[in-house]
Amino acid sequence: MREHDVIIVGGGLAGCRAALEIKRTDPKLNVALVAKTHPIRSHSVAAQGGMAATLKNVDAEDTWEAHAFDTVKGSDYLADQDAVEILTREAPDVVIDLEHLGVLFSRLPDGRIAQRAFGGHSHRRTCYAADKTGHAILHELVSNLRKNDVTVYEEWYVMRLILEDGQAKGVVMFNLLTTHLQVVRAKAVMFATGGYGRVFNTTSNDFASTGDGLAMSALAGVPLEDMEFVQFHPTGLYPVGVLISEAVRGEGAYLINSEGDRFMANYAPSKMELAPRDITSRAIALEIRAGRGVHPDGNPGGPCVYLDLRHMGKEKIMSRIPFCWEEAHRLVGVDAVYEPMPVRPTAHYSMGGIPVNTDGQVRSGPDGLVEGFFAAGESACVSVHGANRLGSNSLLECVVYGKRTGAAIAQYIQNRKLPDIDEQVYLNAAQNKINALLGQSGSLRIGQLRQNFQDCMTQYCGVFRTEALMQEGLNQLQQLKQQYQNIYLDDKGSCWNTELIEALELRNLMVVGEIILTSALNRQESRGAHSREDYPQRDDTNFLKHTLAYYSSAGIDLQYKSVAMTRFEPQERKY
Ligand SMILES: Cc1cc2nc3c(=O)[nH]c(=O)nc-3n(C[C@H](O)[C@H](O)[C@H](O)COP(=O)(O)OP(=O)(O)OC[C@H]3O[C@@H](n4cnc5c(N)ncnc54)[C@H](O)[C@@H]3O)c2cc1C
Repeated sequence: MREHDVIIVGGGLAGCRAALEIKRTDPKLNVALVAKTHPIRSHSVAAQGGMAATLKNVDAEDTWEAHAFDTVKGSDYLADQDAVEILTREAPDVVIDLEHLGVLFSRLPDGRIAQRAFGGHSHRRTCYAADKTGHAILHELVSNLRKNDVTVYEEWYVMRLILEDGQAKGVVMFNLLTTHLQVVRAKAVMFATGGYGRVFNTTSNDFASTGDGLAMSALAGVPLEDMEFVQFHPTGLYPVGVLISEAVRGEGAYLINSEGDRFMANYAPSKMELAPRDITSRAIALEIRAGRGVHPDGNPGGPCVYLDLRHMGKEKIMSRIPFCWEEAHRLVGVDAVYEPMPVRPTAHYSMGGIPVNTDGQVRSGPDGLVEGFFAAGESACVSVHGANRLGSNSLLECVVYGKRTGAAIAQYIQNRKLPDIDEQVYLNAAQNKINALLGQSGSLRIGQLRQNFQDCMTQYCGVFRTEALMQEGLNQLQQLKQQYQNIYLDDKGSCWNTELIEALELRNLMVVGEIILTSALNRQESRGAHSREDYPQRDDTNFLKHTLAYYSSAGIDLQYKSVAMTRFEPQERKY
C-alpha cells in the first residue's frame, strides 16, 4: 500500500492549484496528485475565453461588489452569497499571483493585463490569454508541481473512494498502462475530477469528462448538490459541438437567425448577445423551434443559428480569437472572416457537484462534514454559480477555491495519523470488478449503450424539460441500466485497455445521469439553466433551496439545504 499525507485526484486547474498551496504552506508535506490523463490534458487546458477579476485595468469603476452582484443575479439567486463574496474579493490577488508564476496574459498597450467583456458581467473584467487562457494557466501550474516536488501519478485511473465510518481514507486506482491495482491511503483525500459533459450526446467537454469523482462520491454515500443545473453553452459549433468561446461575442460577434435578425433583441434587449448563457441558449432553441434556424448550407428551417463575425474584420479576429477561427475552419470548413459560423447549444458545465463548505471540506448533509475529504473545481459545489454560471467565473473558482482548499488541507492534516485500511479487501473487490467486466459474455458494445444513454439524457433532460419527458427519461434509463449487464469487451488484455476504462466510465455516467434526472424532476420551477415548460416561473417560496441527492441501489433520496444570503435580496431577473 502506498502512503501520502494528501492524495489529490485531478490534474486540472483546481487540483494543481491546491497542490501548490499545500506545498507553499508546508513544504515538508508529502503530496501526491493522480490523473487519468496526463495533467496537461485535463479539460482545463481547453478553456478559452478567460477568468474574471476586478483588476479595473479597463473599467476603473468596477468593484468586487459589482462582480458579486452579477454572479448572484446570474445564478438566479441560488448561489451561496458568502461563497460568492470570497470568490470575487479574492479574484484580483489570485490573478496577480498567477502572473507572478509566469502565466502569459494578454496585455493592454501600457503593459497591464487586458480585460474583455463577458456575458452577464456589468463591466469588462475578464482577463485572458488570447482565446487559450486555460492552456496558459495550466502549463504554469503543472510545471510548478514539478518544482515543488509533488508526486504525480499520471495516467492512473481512480476507481473507488475509500470512505469508512464517515472518514475518507484513500483511493483504489489502477495504472492504465499495466492494469496494476494500487491502494493509496492518506490523511486527506481531495477530488478535483472536473465535469460530466459526456452524459449528453453533444458537448464541449473532452472525452475524459465522465463525472467519475461525482459517481464515486455518490456510491460511497456522499450526497450530490444541485445536479439538475446543467449549463448548455449557446455556441457549440454545429454539428461537432465543440465550443466557440463566449469571448467571440465579448469581442462583438452577432447571433442571427434565418431572417438575418439579431434575435437577442427579443429576449434580452439591454445585453443582447452578452446575456447570460441560460437565457441565450433558450433563445437559440426557441428560434430553431419556431423555424427560424438555418441549415449549415444556408437554407432556413435548420437545426442551428449563425454566429456572425464578419463585421469584426480579419485583424481583430486573428489577434483576439485566433483559435475559434481555426476551429471553425478546421472542423466545419468555415472561414469566419467571410462566412458566419453555424452554432447551437452544447452541454458545457456542471453547476452542481460534491457539496463543500468554503474551506473545500465535503458535506455529509445539510449540517455535517465528511472527515478527511475535500473537493474543489467543477466537481465541487460550494455554490458560487447557483442555477447558472457566468462565463469566466469557473477558472476563477478553480483557482480561488483550489488555493483555499489547499490551505485548509495543510492545516487539517497537522497532527493527524494515517488511517488504517484493510488493503486486501479493497484490492480483491477491485480485481473482482475488473474480472467480471472482462469475463462478461454479453452482446452489446459499450459505444452502442453509451450512445443510447447519451441520446436519452439529451432528449429527456435537455434545455427544456417537463414532468412527462423526464419521467419517460427515467423509465428508459432503468432499462439502459439493465443492459449494462449485457455489455462485452473485445479487449481482454492488461496493457492499455481503454475499453475497460470506458466500461467503468459508462457506469459512472449512468449514475450521474440518474441523479441529474431525479433532481430535475423534483424541482417544480424554472430557475437559471433548469427550465420547466410545465412550471415556467421561479418559485422562491418553495424552491429557493439547494437539492441534496443521496444515491443508493434502492433509489435516490432527496433532501434540501438552505441558501446563504448576505447582501442581495432575490429580485426578478431581467437583462
Ligand atoms: C471548451 C471549454 C472552454 C472553457 N472555457 C472557459 C473559460 O474561458 N473560462 C472559464 O472560467 N471556464 C471555462 N470553461 C470551464 C472550465 O474550463 C472548467 O470548469 C475547469 O477548467 C474545470 O477544472 P477542474 O480542475 O475542476 O477539472 P478538469 O480540468 O476537468 O480536470 C479534471 C482532472 O481530473 C482527472 N480525473 C477525472 N476522473 C478521474 C479518475 N477517475 N481517475 C483519475 N483522474 C481523474 C482528469 O484526468 C483531470 O486531470 C471551459 C470549459 C470547456 C469545456
